[in-house]
Amino acid sequence: MTQATLIDGKALAGKVTDAVAEVAARFTGLRGRQPGLAVVLVGEDPASQVYVRSKGRMAAKCGFHSVTLRQSDDLSEAELLSIVDQLNGDDTIDGILIQLPLPDHINADAVLNAVDPAKDVDGFHPVNAGRLASGDIDTPLIPCTPAGIMHMIRTIHGKDLSGMAAVVLGRSTIVGRPISQLLLAANATVTIAHSRTKDIQALARTADILVVAIGRPQMVGADWIKPGATVIDVGVNRIEDQNLGTTQLVGDVDFDAALPIAGALTPVPGGVGRMTIAMLMANTLKAAEARAKQNV
Ligand code: NAP
Repeated sequence: MTQATLIDGKALAGKVTDAVAEVAARFTGLRGRQPGLAVVLVGEDPASQVYVRSKGRMAAKCGFHSVTLRQSDDLSEAELLSIVDQLNGDDTIDGILIQLPLPDHINADAVLNAVDPAKDVDGFHPVNAGRLASGDIDTPLIPCTPAGIMHMIRTIHGKDLSGMAAVVLGRSTIVGRPISQLLLAANATVTIAHSRTKDIQALARTADILVVAIGRPQMVGADWIKPGATVIDVGVNRIEDQNLGTTQLVGDVDFDAALPIAGALTPVPGGVGRMTIAMLMANTLKAAEARAKQNV
């Protein structure tokens, strides 16, 4: 029985960060300063702590000036806005990342919208999202997870997706919407599905490229996948085995069921998640270069 080609996020992310480190070293030599990334973490969320630590480690590996600002969860919105304001004005910082989720008493949109769009390495600011929605994929900072997904798709199909049907499951501003814009910019014919879509399984089965970002553990089974399709599993779900008392990380796709049907498939873990951090580094370097050019 043939099996899907596995798209190795770990290896691909390694190549991206190696290239970023090389260009960052040149930037540092030329500009007399390192590209700078500031990560702001509010509260003690354990998953966020893990993400922030690995972002800091990767930034150091890429040769960046890396700052992590850890704040207690009783920080007020005004205090957080003041931190963002300081980072906006700090010339040693090119990228600002506000780790989500924020505590309930803070309006996340207000904080994300306060980040200087030129330093918005998450690509969530309306200026960057708007440019992307208008079809500009060169100027804006593009959200890291969708940027990483496109990188993975390019390894299988190249840059031009003309004639291909892409179906995106999920319409979040972090994944579903921006990946749809990127697929469209690459000439795919794109359909976006969500929780109100009728007969979503049959729709998914029409996809040459299926991107799944719904946060539902292993929901997409064999019957959802067109034979030979490229399947990108964005989901990260922790499920418990009651009998063994252990937890396991799984995607939104039933990996074992998809493996003999799909043409190419991303694993969880070791797939899209790896690419997200690598693209954050690439975005920080892009922001640093754009800011340096402006200051010349
Ligand atoms: P989200 O904001 O919760 O959005 C989920 C989307 O899926 C919504 O559009 C929702 O539809 C749709 N949906 C939910 N249940 C559905 C169902 N039964 N059938 C069809 N559509 C359904 O989630 P997100 O932030 O996009 O994240 C999605 C998944 O990706 C999560 O598992 C998250 O942990 C993971 N993720 C991974 C990375 C990474 O780096 N690997 C990065 C970001 C997210 P409605 O809009 O109609 O509610």
